[in-house]
Amino acid sequence: VTPLLQVDGLRTEFSTDQGPVTSVDGVSFSLAPGETLCLVGESGSGKSVSALSIMGLLARNGRITAGSVLFEGQDLVGLPDRELRRVRGHAIAMIFQEPMTSLNPVLTIGDQLAETMILHLGLTKAQARQRAIELLEKVGIPRAKDVVDDHPHRLSGGMRQRVMIAMALSCEPKLIIADEPTTALDVTIQAQILRLMRELSAETGTAMIFITHDLGVVAEMADRVAVMYAGQVVEETDVYTLFDDPKHPYTSALLRSIPHITTPAGDRLNPISGSVPNLLHMPTGCRFHDRCLQAMDRCATEPPELLPVASQHSVRCWLYDETEVPA
Ligand code: SF4
Ligand code: MG
Repeated sequence: VTPLLQVDGLRTEFSTDQGPVTSVDGVSFSLAPGETLCLVGESGSGKSVSALSIMGLLARNGRITAGSVLFEGQDLVGLPDRELRRVRGHAIAMIFQEPMTSLNPVLTIGDQLAETMILHLGLTKAQARQRAIELLEKVGIPRAKDVVDDHPHRLSGGMRQRVMIAMALSCEPKLIIADEPTTALDVTIQAQILRLMRELSAETGTAMIFITHDLGVVAEMADRVAVMYAGQVVEETDVYTLFDDPKHPYTSALLRSIPHITTPAGDRLNPISGSVPNLLHMPTGCRFHDRCLQAMDRCATEPPELLPVASQHSVRCWLYDETEVPA
């Protein structure tokens, strides 16, 4: 299958008071049509910046300095703003963690939904309003005919996130990028929203990039997973292989840190000791070396590359240097 999205060697730099900071430096993954890829990692690992880079939504002080983002074969890197906006309105949609910041408080839900559909799908006002009600029903909002005329502050957090999903779906995108969309919600609502997103993506064939720090969410949502550490993808594989046969020591450590039902009360979990490196003082060699229990001499000086260890499975680690990948 031709990938829908192919990100290769993405590198994003920000200029700051303390000098240039590279937040993303070595992000590669691919996504087939209809597939869900989870980008997982601790906060500050570069997940959100990767998403914003793909969407061309970086803050003014940020820019992509290397790599490519092929969407249906077209490189989005360096595309003029006007064309990027068209891609964003139409083919790729984004859902953020806090819906209130992306919803306009002075417009009704219906007007916000209609706005994009009038602009990008060329619907009339009446058509767009009808379609807005249908979309609200589709995302499970009760009394959609009334809610369409409500303002965002009248809705609960979970309902607002459903509105955001409706907005994302309104232009029938091929790809939805969701950045921790359920993190701010309580667990019951979180489970409902995850189920809704899974069902909608199966029904509409929309591919998703789902950003999370939560491996429970990964298990729930992912077809494929890219594990990020300190601005790099350190392992990319399908979700079953990730949980059954993780290769990168960081992935293994993350998996050990999941609280387990059978852990006796009071027993310590397995936190990974140390913390994510400061981007201004990135370690030399492998960025994980000072936290890695399997580090070797070369790890402190030589940076490993992300290389295939099996078909559709890549790892950035010197332990697999000699692995022969069957063609
Ligand atoms: Fe550990 Fe070395 Fe592999 Fe890095 S390259 S994860 S330090 S074994
Ligand atoms: Mg983030």
